Amino acid sequence: MSVLAYHMVDTRFDWGITRVTPKQFRRQIEFALNRGFTFQTISEYLSYENDHSKHIAITFDDGYKSIYDYAFKILKQFGIKATLFVIPGFVGQRNTWDVNIGWLKFDHLGWHDIKEMHDAGWEIGSHSMSHRDLTRLDNRELDYELDASKMLLERRLNSPVHVISYPFGNANRRVCEASAKHGYQAGVVMGKKITHVPEKFAVPRIGLYLLDSLKIFEQKIYLKNMRAYRTLQRFIDLCSDGTVVVKQGLKTKK
Ligand SMILES: [Zn+2]
Repeated sequence: MSVLAYHMVDTRFDWGITRVTPKQFRRQIEFALNRGFTFQTISEYLSYENDHSKHIAITFDDGYKSIYDYAFKILKQFGIKATLFVIPGFVGQRNTWDVNIGWLKFDHLGWHDIKEMHDAGWEIGSHSMSHRDLTRLDNRELDYELDASKMLLERRLNSPVHVISYPFGNANRRVCEASAKHGYQAGVVMGKKITHVPEKFAVPRIGLYLLDSLKIFEQKIYLKNMRAYRTLQRFIDLCSDGTVVVKQGLKTKK
């Protein structure tokens, strides 16, 4: 029924609110399990087509080390597989692409941990090569971000990569068409609606944040009150767009 988007599951303080604590994460998983939900990877989830009644796909963007340290270990205890969207150009490095976090820098996962998660049944997707807003790139740069990230992941994992999470949840028709051309089978966004593209290339996700109570989590997995949450999420997406404006300017290429 819903595709959830997490970024960090960490005990550390950071300036963003796109984090949940490990305790909060565990309580959310237990809550959903008690309500009879089952969990799938994004490709499994999308293969159910019209039967999304009690399914959840958990996705993690950016490939932070804390996902292995906390989320992977928690989900393992429940036998749950999730989806990790990796920025191959930043594997094993610090998140210098994010100017929002100020002086606090976070480590990305290394290949060893990513492989272990993949071997445990997690789906690994692309989050582009260097986390730039794909809608602002020319065709040559766009092709590179889509193609190089997919190829590098496939080579490292020895397994096909089917899904892309567009950085900042930003995509348009040109980006979706290019993704299909490069062999992706689906793409996930955040709150923003993208029109005139096949549904599978603009799969909406619901973001989970530090301030979400269990009551809010419940509404999100049952897709209740979504108008309000989507408005809030657009605001959060806009804030994270600050990074893009600083690094790439305001011009959007159609
Ligand atoms: Zn991201």
